Amino acid sequence: MLIRRDAERYWDMNKFSIREWNEDGVREGGIWFKTMGCSHEWSGGCVMCDYSFGSKTDSSGMIDCVEEALESMQEPCHNLIITPSGSMLDEKEVPRDALFGILKLFAGSEHKFMGMESRADTITQPIIRQCKEILGGRFRRVYIGLECSNTWILKYCINKNQDTKVVKHAFEILKAEQVEIIANILLGIPFLTPKENVEYAVASAKWAIANGCTKCCIFPVHIKKHTHLERLAKLGIYTQTSLWTYIEVIRKLKEEIQAGKVTIDWFETYEAYNIIYPARTCDNCYVDVLSLLRKFTETKDFEILKNLEEYGCECKKDWKDTYEKNEEYSLVDRVEKAYRRLAEDFADSKWKGARLEELIITMRMEYEEHLQ
Ligand code: SF4
Ligand SMILES: [Zn+2]
Repeated sequence: MLIRRDAERYWDMNKFSIREWNEDGVREGGIWFKTMGCSHEWSGGCVMCDYSFGSKTDSSGMIDCVEEALESMQEPCHNLIITPSGSMLDEKEVPRDALFGILKLFAGSEHKFMGMESRADTITQPIIRQCKEILGGRFRRVYIGLECSNTWILKYCINKNQDTKVVKHAFEILKAEQVEIIANILLGIPFLTPKENVEYAVASAKWAIANGCTKCCIFPVHIKKHTHLERLAKLGIYTQTSLWTYIEVIRKLKEEIQAGKVTIDWFETYEAYNIIYPARTCDNCYVDVLSLLRKFTETKDFEILKNLEEYGCECKKDWKDTYEKNEEYSLVDRVEKAYRRLAEDFADSKWKGARLEELIITMRMEYEEHLQ
């Protein structure tokens, strides 16, 4: 909460944000509209997230934002995501009359299929059925921020209190209703070594696919202003993700990428206003690496990946040394050390003394259950 206090309030000044692009030969688009922001962020939020807040907006205000955004799109999309910077199915963020009003706007548009983003705990069978009553088969996709398939890591490294049992249940509901599930997976989780990050990203993608998700998208973390990650980076506890680590994940998910089950995205910043340390390589090779990754996304040609694997740069050798280095502390010890350092850093934090000790005991107990 203290870290997020000074975050910029993008949604105070903007009614919507649009992205349009071509992928696999079809037109894709996204509309993000103004709300008060993600309800999980109101109490701290996930460590990497700065989806930003906005002033109070009522249902008709939200519908107006989407209407204006739809009018300013360049051409009809095959797939269009319409979503707040948070969860479309969370009534605290998007009241039901706003949701249904937006679905009706889409029904009258020329765009073909609609998608939305929502946390797993907001997905229920009745609400999915109500969406389908308005849009039928045009209600096509729900994006879920899975981040990682390990509940302990979600809770103690990402601050996303999301049980993977709840995610699995959400997947079952969507599958039964024939709605596609896209699971977003994070690469660059704090306190994990680069190698552990690769292992968990790969395991999470495989877990999501085995549990019925249609596609996974792997996102490397860019450090944003006023996030917990920025603070951890300032304290020397977190280092920005190398694109070489990202390429390692792609290499290990070759089969899933070829089967169309895994996509990659956001390895570049798209000039987002609040990114301070993007995932990258060194100044000498960054432009080349980005251009090869873009080509790979467009073509899914593994020859391009081979060029990246064989790419020679000093920064790659340094990355490899760090990647292969054995970590001397266990993950739970690293997390405890980081929590203690953070508590020292915040003079006015409530996470001190007995409260901090209690948290560490619980965290260690749950670690035994989940990770050993
Ligand atoms: S990542 Fe998603 S759930 Fe987490 S704070 Fe951001 S918007 Fe909310
Ligand atoms: Zn380099």
